[in-house]
This record gives sequence, C-alpha cells and structure tokens, in this order.
Amino acid sequence: MKILVPVKRVIDANIRVRVKADQTGVETANVKMAMNPFCEIAVEEALRLKEAGHAEEVIMVSAGPEKCQETIRTGLAMGADRGVHINTEATLEPLAIAKMIKAVAEKESADLIILGKQSIDDDNNQTGQMLAAIMQRPLGSYISKIEKNHGGFAITREIDAGLENLQITSPAVVTTDLRLNEPRYASLPNIMKAKKKPIDMVTPEQLGVDISNRIEVLQVTEPPARDAGVMVSSAAELVDKLKNEAKVI
Ligand code: AMP
Repeated sequence: MKILVPVKRVIDANIRVRVKADQTGVETANVKMAMNPFCEIAVEEALRLKEAGHAEEVIMVSAGPEKCQETIRTGLAMGADRGVHINTEATLEPLAIAKMIKAVAEKESADLIILGKQSIDDDNNQTGQMLAAIMQRPLGSYISKIEKNHGGFAITREIDAGLENLQITSPAVVTTDLRLNEPRYASLPNIMKAKKKPIDMVTPEQLGVDISNRIEVLQVTEPPARDAGVMVSSAAELVDKLKNEAKVI
C-alpha cells in the first residue's frame, strides 16, 4: 500500500496572528511557520501503518511557495520516504488544492490519502471532503482510529453523540482528528537522513489544474477587543453586579 499525506505550511500555532494593515489578510512575512498540527497527526498515522507492515511507502505532498519544502522535510525527518512539492506563489483555495492532490494521488496510485481535518490558519475543513468527492472515493472524516483489514479500513469517527465505527473500502480518503495519535519528534539522525530524501517539484500547470480563485476575500479584521475584567471582593458583590449591572440574572 502507498500512503499519500498532504501537508500544509501554516503560521506556528504558538504565534499570535496579526492582521495586515490593509486588512487583505494576515501577516506572514518574518513570522514563524510550521506544519499544520492536524497534518503532523496524519504523518504520524501513516508512519504507524507503515511500521505495522501495511504500507511500503509514505509520500508527502505540499502545495505552495518554495518554503513548503521545509514542511515536507519535517515529515521526511519524522520518517516519510519522499516528497512532492507543488510549487506556486498563488493563493490557493481548497478546491484547487483538492484537484492538485487528486492529480498527484492518481500519478502515484495512492491507496490511502490521510489529510488533516482542517488547517489552523484558514479553518476551511474542506479539502479532504472535496478530494474524496472528486476522486469518488470513500471518506472517513475526523477519524480517531484506523486499522487496515481485508476489506479496506476499519475506522472510528468522532461525532457529536460519541464514536461512530465504520468500514470503508480501499482506496480511501481519511481526515485526522486530534485524538488519533501523538506525533513523534524527529530525532537528530533522522533530520540528517531527511536532507538526502528526494522531493520532486511540479507546477499546477504540469498537473493540468486550473487554480484560479472562485472566492474573493473582502476584508480581514481583528476580533473586537474585550473589556478588562474586574475583581470582586465577595460572592454577594458578584451577584449584585450580575443582577444590576450585567442584568444577566
Ligand atoms: P483545510 O480544508 O484547508 O482546512 O485543510 C485540510 C487539510 O487539507 C490539511 O490538514 C492538509 O492535509 C490538506 N491541505 C490543505 N492545504 C494544503 C496545501 N496547501 N498543501 C497540501 N495539503 C493541504
């Protein structure tokens, strides 16, 4: 089995995101970037399936500017075998990304594609669903467990009312939830080894995908500032304020 893991380069989760002065988006210049946390979980799960003897190869794919190769290297240092960088400076929408991943998945004959459930920058939560639809493959979204078996994959999904157990056929698309696993750290020897692992570069044009945008961003703004809190000296004062100032009780 070949596993394809699409990974996105996003602003590091520990960084405070700032809106650009012209309100066209968020500031990314000179900002620390990292692999999207849900994508790290996807890489970890692919590696575990390989280590359990279910996969021969784990391939990373990332679409975006040249720096995406750093994100691919992070996955290679965790243990993935090779990478594909879809090189473009354009702003990418989930549909365009899904079409490009489809093209790579078909070229690679990937049996399983493991995506993050969402990217923490745009919070789209769309790419995996669109990919499964355009590839006409079964989708297991928000999985917290996956096991390879004869029919395909037994998966557990996190849903509002609890856990849902499903069987999906192979080839398939799944998206990772937080509780699927805890991603490993790359060891120093593996970071060194990763430098020699191959990363192929392709362009959206070479993949035959039209990446023109269908969505126009009108404005990006900061959330409204919150008023400072006040300290109260007793429960009675708190009740009084809730009743007579906030008027919520
Ligand atoms: P989203 O639909 O943007 O919330 O992203 C969900 C998942 O799609 C991510 O966790 C990645 O696995 C994949 N993905 C999104 N954008 C990219 C990208 N530019 N390159 C590769 N994979 C991506």
